[in-house]
Amino acid sequence: MDTDVFVIGSGPAGIQAAIHASRHKVSVTVAGKPSASAAAGPEMDNYFGTGHVSGSQLIAEGIRQAESTGAVFVGQNVISSSRGGDGSFRFVLDDGTEVVSKAVVIATGISREKLGIPGEKELYGKGVSYCAVCDCNFFKGRRVVIVGNESEAAISAEMMTGYASETSWVAWDMKASQVLLEKAEAAGVRIYGSKPLAIVGETKVEALELEDGTRIPMDGVFIELGARSAADIALDLDVMPELDDTIKVDTGCATEVPGVYACGDVTGKPWQVAKAVGQGCVAGTNAATFVKGER
Ligand SMILES: Cc1cc2nc3c(=O)[nH]c(=O)nc-3n(C[C@H](O)[C@H](O)[C@H](O)COP(=O)(O)OP(=O)(O)OC[C@H]3O[C@@H](n4cnc5c(N)ncnc54)[C@H](O)[C@@H]3O)c2cc1C
Repeated sequence: MDTDVFVIGSGPAGIQAAIHASRHKVSVTVAGKPSASAAAGPEMDNYFGTGHVSGSQLIAEGIRQAESTGAVFVGQNVISSSRGGDGSFRFVLDDGTEVVSKAVVIATGISREKLGIPGEKELYGKGVSYCAVCDCNFFKGRRVVIVGNESEAAISAEMMTGYASETSWVAWDMKASQVLLEKAEAAGVRIYGSKPLAIVGETKVEALELEDGTRIPMDGVFIELGARSAADIALDLDVMPELDDTIKVDTGCATEVPGVYACGDVTGKPWQVAKAVGQGCVAGTNAATFVKGER
């Protein structure tokens, strides 16, 4: 699938970017799950002109507006990204669809969700990790568990079979694509369907306990909740994320790589809808004008 502007994220920032980009008569494709937006649950009472409004209502109306100007929402996550030699940007979605774009807007919100179970905080760095790609080498020949329901967890689980002696994957609300699930199974990943209860260990990780009573003895747990993180996507596009995984942008929402823009929570605080849509407007407009050669 070819598109002029590819927006990664279907929250307030991404939707606003899509509305502004598509008004410049460039083709716009939007990835991500609206239901996964931080705004999908809460009620808002500090957003200009709305009084008291549900975030889901804002998102649904925003998508309708963006679609009416021609933006296409694919409803899937990006699982890999890269730069083409011809200056294009290339992406793969959950279902294997390939997307090639001339400009990108990263609007993925905040990543690295926590499980919030006993042992997670205490054993962080002692076997608990939030990035399989970063830490896989430390677990060569050891037993690991991947925790997460989305495609990103499936990718990490399959990858870890190339390092670990034993790879398990805990997914209690499976949302990974069937293709990636089958690939992980074929690579020898053992899958458990119960929710994690606690990470156990004195000075280092020793086991993961599940709600159904299962105890998985292991040396490392990779918590891969949610979709591919903004930091991973940015790195793949040659944009260096900040230490806290946010993406630095200038006042035009441009990153250091021409054609790559970012907006919303992913650029840092304040984590507010007003700031997300403000930056979305700037990023979408500038991505479109970049494509048209006006920048
Ligand atoms: C409980 C709570 C209450 C809040 N209350 C308020 C409030 O009262 N007022 C206020 O202004 N703000 C409030 N906020 C904050 C507000 O929701 C966020 O600032 C806002 O949603 C940020 O928008 P965003 O588009 O940057 O990110 P998000 O809304 O988080 O959207 C991120 C999008 O990126 C997508 N995505 C992530 N990874 C990928 C990937 N790999 N591929 C494709 N898509 C991906 C997700 O699916 C999602 O669609 C609240 C937040 C919470 C959690």
